[in-house]
Amino acid sequence: MQLCRIGDELSTGDPIGAAGAATGLGGRGVRPAPYTGSVATTEYEAVPAVAGEDAQEHLGTVVMKFGGTSVADPEKLRGVAERLVAAREAGNRVVGVVSAMGQTTDELHALARQMSREPDRRELDMLVSVGERISCALVAMAIIDRGHRAESLTGSQAGIVTDTTHGKAKIVDVKGRRIHAALDNDKIVLVAGFQGVSTEYEVTTLGRGGSDLTAVALAAALGADRCEIYTDVEGVFTADPRIVPEARKLHAVSYDEMLEMAASGAKVLQLRSVEFARNHRVKLHVRSSFGDTDGTWVTEEDDRMLEKAMISGVTHALDETLYRVDGVGAARLFAELAAASVNVDTIVQTGSEVVFSAPDSDHADVTAVLERLGCSWSSRDDLGKVSVVGAGMKSHPGVAAKAFATLDELGIEPEIVTTSPIKIACHIAAGDVERAVRGLHGAFELDQRAAERAHA
Ligand code: ADP
Ligand code: ASP
Ligand code: MG
Repeated sequence: MQLCRIGDELSTGDPIGAAGAATGLGGRGVRPAPYTGSVATTEYEAVPAVAGEDAQEHLGTVVMKFGGTSVADPEKLRGVAERLVAAREAGNRVVGVVSAMGQTTDELHALARQMSREPDRRELDMLVSVGERISCALVAMAIIDRGHRAESLTGSQAGIVTDTTHGKAKIVDVKGRRIHAALDNDKIVLVAGFQGVSTEYEVTTLGRGGSDLTAVALAAALGADRCEIYTDVEGVFTADPRIVPEARKLHAVSYDEMLEMAASGAKVLQLRSVEFARNHRVKLHVRSSFGDTDGTWVTEEDDRMLEKAMISGVTHALDETLYRVDGVGAARLFAELAAASVNVDTIVQTGSEVVFSAPDSDHADVTAVLERLGCSWSSRDDLGKVSVVGAGMKSHPGVAAKAFATLDELGIEPEIVTTSPIKIACHIAAGDVERAVRGLHGAFELDQRAAERAHA
């Protein structure tokens, strides 16, 4: 299924850089001529091979990752230590990956901005990588106090080698020898998430939410049985449970579905970590750090998933900017954006005009590229995106019709529609997003028990 449509014209005027505004241009423009011959894609990042020599099977290795809320204060850090000790006492070789405590990363960013309007990226990585180091040293201390051996490692010490892109570096190699040696010495190993060392020996970070990627990359490199992602919800739900209280926890979701869900806004797993897990067949178990119930398994597609419910969830995003560009070929434009490490999502090309979306956090990079190319462009940040995702829609026509009918009943008109074989995404007014999520969630009966895809 390939479908796309563009509604209202993007607002026009001075490019943001020239106008000196911090975000997209306001106001609405004229209705465009109908669009024909469009192409819609979702781009995923290429994933490097991990060091083959370290990837041999080490039975009984488990990587357990704990997010910011799960390590927010000393009591929670002690709880994490206890979980890691319990896993060790159950006979596993245990690697813990921890995020920075609570909002530490945001606070460090805010601190940096008090020093500089646009902090130097190398220095910013030196600063924000500290948050994760604090957590892992504290957890190691708590484990040692419980009579176990433990060792905390920075990303660099753990052998995570990246390219040289500060702020969103890509992993190019994982050297697992030091971790294996510590595990062989009966230690529980703690690794600071979200960071590595570049091929130029600089500290780098892996992008927001990057501790998930640290955990998955280590699980792949160490040949771990599974990677457990402990977080502040009980698993992956049919929608963000903070917006849809009746959302159901999914028992299982396929890599492809999780990729689409993460790409379209389900923040529970970082997109790049899911991509890495799929490419290296790392079994992921997303679960609560505050209880013992089974969470959500992210694995290969299984017929049982689709028998129960063809839609896995409704996702949303509010942190994307949409750009409309004319006067530069798509090949050159996307080559330049890729060179600037911009994470482009939706792309729609019609004649000489290209429309694409990118995270708000990449806005300065996109602006710099467009200014350098000297093309005419405009942007808007008043749109959000709501998506319906499910592997079952490959073989069930009518999902798009139901999605559009539901939005129509709510009086919501999509501005752009893009699809993949397992996703329908609609850019709509940001203020309508929550209503649209709830409406679609109900329309596809995701509040019913069958939506959980329970195998039992
Ligand atoms: P952590 O700090 O543990 O990495 P995150 O904040 O990154 O946790 O991700 C967990 C959050 O993801 C949840 O609190 C929830 O609000 C949000 N979320 C968004 N969509 C979903 C979804 N479909 N299922 C579960 N959680 C979701
Ligand atoms: N602390 C980093 C962030 O807030 C990485 C992470 O939590 O995964 O983005
Ligand atoms: Mg996260």
